[in-house]
Amino acid sequence: MGFNDKIVDVNFESLLRIFTVPEAPDSTLGNIEQKLSQNLNEFLREHIVAEEKPLSEIEKDFSNAAIPESPTFVSEHTQHLLDTLVSHSVHTSAPSFIGHMTSALPYFLMPLSKIMIALNQNLVKIETSKAFTPLERQVLGMLHRLIYGQSETFYQQWMHSAEHSLGAFCSGGTIANITALWVARNNALKADGNFQGVEKEGLFNAMMHYGYQGMAILVSERGHYSLKKAADVLGIGRSNLVPVKTDENNRICPNALEDTIKQLKSKNIKPFAIIGVAGTTETGNIDPLDIIADIAQREGCHFHVDAAWGGATLMSNNYRSLLKGIERADSVTIDAHKQLYIPMGAGMVLFKDPTAMKAVEHHAEYILRKGSKDLGSHTLEGSRSGMAMLVYSSMHIISRPGYELLIDQSINKARYFADLIKRQADFELISEPELCLLTYRYVPEKTKQALKVATFEERQQLHQWLNELTQFVQKKQRENGLSFVSRTRLTPVQWNRMETNVFRVVLANPLTSHDILHSVIEEQRQIAQTSHLVLPKIESLTKAILQR
Ligand SMILES: *Cc1c(COP(=O)(O)O)cnc(C)c1O
Repeated sequence: MGFNDKIVDVNFESLLRIFTVPEAPDSTLGNIEQKLSQNLNEFLREHIVAEEKPLSEIEKDFSNAAIPESPTFVSEHTQHLLDTLVSHSVHTSAPSFIGHMTSALPYFLMPLSKIMIALNQNLVKIETSKAFTPLERQVLGMLHRLIYGQSETFYQQWMHSAEHSLGAFCSGGTIANITALWVARNNALKADGNFQGVEKEGLFNAMMHYGYQGMAILVSERGHYSLKKAADVLGIGRSNLVPVKTDENNRICPNALEDTIKQLKSKNIKPFAIIGVAGTTETGNIDPLDIIADIAQREGCHFHVDAAWGGATLMSNNYRSLLKGIERADSVTIDAHKQLYIPMGAGMVLFKDPTAMKAVEHHAEYILRKGSKDLGSHTLEGSRSGMAMLVYSSMHIISRPGYELLIDQSINKARYFADLIKRQADFELISEPELCLLTYRYVPEKTKQALKVATFEERQQLHQWLNELTQFVQKKQRENGLSFVSRTRLTPVQWNRMETNVFRVVLANPLTSHDILHSVIEEQRQIAQTSHLVLPKIESLTKAILQR
């Protein structure tokens, strides 16, 4: 395509230009910039191509490991990006893209994020962030107050205190969860007598000193996989992240939790943290947080709530009671890049006690001096961007009641969709929406009847084929490019915990209409009919069962 034909000389003059001179308004970049701010959705619709190009083809565009020896004009490169990258990226903001937790962004974030990028502040220390530091502390204060609702004087006292912190801003839920468990671990194995604390002496000495055979973290079997990473990097071990059984609504069983704690203690393994999930990633259900809080309190365990996705529900006065008990958590994870509609890279962990993060405090002489307000002294990450500004702006521009509307309409839409599925003779709702997430699958009408009278073996066989069918439909739908739902595997109680492939839908985009929901299931129904490999098998076994 002549992309490399033109030889451009490297010279310092032209390098200086890229730092100082803006592109002309009618250049490719200038055009994109203009179109993006005029109509982002239109731009994305025009440029993201619908038909699926196999990844192996796309890889060919990205196969050269050599760093270019000659520079390229910005406009030329911009066109290259449009052709190879933009056109084959995923249209996450399309109203029919209802498969994941990241969705459309409000418009105003495009120009505002330019301010953030242009200023390029580094939040690790005051010297490179100035006003961004109190802004980030205020954002943490806002989320803390949303969860814990402490008094005005509490926030006046602690929000900007150099020796305290209400939480940490980070790149996402994974780092937030690791940070929470890091604090929990260091507090559980803190300095004592001759022992200087796990952060100084390491886990081996800590175990010797406290006389434990191991440490354990408890979470329901629906816990997010980031917790496994946390158990790994903190030296706890993945197999000591102990999964606890869930009930028919994917919520942790308190009795099973109690039993697990007893078993661990009898093996001299210290359960030091219990995690409640507020919005499971697969089904959107919320653990009974009050009951977990009671158990954690009694056992002297750190109580962490992973509300990475569901935490934003607290913005709605109509639904925040679903998370009752969260205010008793020692720490809470919330992702702003999920239901707070912020671009990726905005997670937070909040601590009830403003002194909790002392357990992970770090100081260095040239930076992060003791008594400074540097945020880096208790964050896992080092250099960090001013993402908090976008949360700050959204809180002001959308406001709490605005978020309430967004949350409420998502939940209502999920209920609408669940009802719609239940009215279809050939679809089956697998998990009811508690928040705006639900799962379901396609089952031919006659097969539904057959499943009721089938033998155990027949039911297993049908189930296996239905799993293949669900997989086929989901993949095909994605490839068609008109709409997207995700897929996961559950073990529903109503199916005797048999492994069941399901469509998973997250209804976060306010532009997703009822019509779109109707057409999503219509498309799935049609795709199912084109499954010439597995559907005929399902139909013939169905027939055999019903003819008996
Ligand atoms: C998304 C999610 C996470 C991980 O967050 P990232 O931002 O992807 O790192 C953790 N827990 C839950 C419940 C989540 O939904």
